[in-house]
Amino acid sequence: MIQNKIQQIKSEIGNRKLIIVSKKRSLDEIMSAYNTGHRDFGENRVQELIEKYHNLPKDIRWHMIGHLQKNKVKYIIPFIHLIHSVDSLGLLEWINKISNKENKRTNCLIQVKIAEEDTKFGFSKSLTEKFIVSNYKSNYPFINIKGLMGMATATDKKEKIEQEFQKLKYISMKNPELNTLCMGMSQDYKIAIKNESNMIRVGTYIFS
Ligand SMILES: *Cc1c(COP(=O)(O)O)cnc(C)c1O
Repeated sequence: MIQNKIQQIKSEIGNRKLIIVSKKRSLDEIMSAYNTGHRDFGENRVQELIEKYHNLPKDIRWHMIGHLQKNKVKYIIPFIHLIHSVDSLGLLEWINKISNKENKRTNCLIQVKIAEEDTKFGFSKSLTEKFIVSNYKSNYPFINIKGLMGMATATDKKEKIEQEFQKLKYISMKNPELNTLCMGMSQDYKIAIKNESNMIRVGTYIFS
């Protein structure tokens, strides 16, 4: 049952933050999670996110976790709680511009490419380090950079996943002002929390 799974995972992760990934899940399924008191949900597609936003309670905190195209940014800025998937400077600039127009500051994580797979989006490690020492606060005044997000390679090899999470852990440890370290999904959240992750994104484990 969804309720038991949520309780189970929350007891495992202690005071780290759980984002329930509700992509492809029905409104009823999301409501069963909502009714446990949970409020943070993640979606990876703008269209689906907007439909769910309109059809579900307004106190849900929505997290955009998937690759975001610039031309769709304007649809989510008015209500999004946190964008996890800022994977290029161009996208960041665009989010800043739309946020300015909407008169708000948007919370963002920098998505860092820690996996070797070419399909994963994100800042390289070196671009991330350069970005962190840049004047990003004044360059992007309508954005709150809350921290870093990463996805490990989809593999059963624990050592490989661990190595990838460590890359992000080290960047995060050197930059304590970026206090969110978001890594870990159903398959690998245990390895992620061993490596200082304080926000995990879990779907399959809860809904199946
Ligand atoms: C789907 C997705 C998740 C959740 O994955 P599960 O294996 O279902 O836990 C986490 N993060 C991102 C970016 C996703 O797209």
